[in-house]
Amino acid sequence: MNISKSLLLCSLICTSAILAEGEELVNVQAVNPEIKVDLYFASTNNFFKCSVYGEETPAYLTEAAAEALSDVQEELQEQGLRLVVRDAYRSAQIHEDMWKNCEDEELMVNPEQDCCTHTCGIAVDVTIEKMDGTCVAQPSEYFEEPCDCAFEDEEVKANYELLKSTMEKHGFASLSNEPWFHFEFKTKEKAQSLTVSFAELAQQ
Ligand SMILES: [Zn+2]
Repeated sequence: MNISKSLLLCSLICTSAILAEGEELVNVQAVNPEIKVDLYFASTNNFFKCSVYGEETPAYLTEAAAEALSDVQEELQEQGLRLVVRDAYRSAQIHEDMWKNCEDEELMVNPEQDCCTHTCGIAVDVTIEKMDGTCVAQPSEYFEEPCDCAFEDEEVKANYELLKSTMEKHGFASLSNEPWFHFEFKTKEKAQSLTVSFAELAQQ
């Protein structure tokens, strides 16, 4: 990405605020402060090399998805583990600008072809760690494809299956065409892409 494009992306401010009726986005940590939030797109530790969301941006999900994630946390906590949220809601406007600025089309959903469920507030990228912050064995680093042999490691396999089964138990689905850390909360209605900005959510 060239510097002017990068700066444009980093200074983006979304102006419209449209939420579907009955839909409310909530701060995940306000629902359960034990969930750790470390959004890669809020830091410079991502493929844009800049804070796309703004530093220390909280993780937002629909209220139902956040409540379900809290239930996952409560269950994992009994085993001394916590969820680490790496990505959650982003507005449709931010997603479109990320798409325009992304150099690798494999990394993002083309907004003209498909709805990115992160813009609906129902998708969450999560990993797990021990409650004391110690890492546990994972299939891959965030943004990296796991190698074919990753799941042959018993510890990796056990940690991944624990994450997946606990998420599924509380209403989240993992998808074969998405990375292992991406989960989507199942809704009866078709999820809608939202445009409410982080600035507007911060004022709620
Ligand atoms: Zn995701």
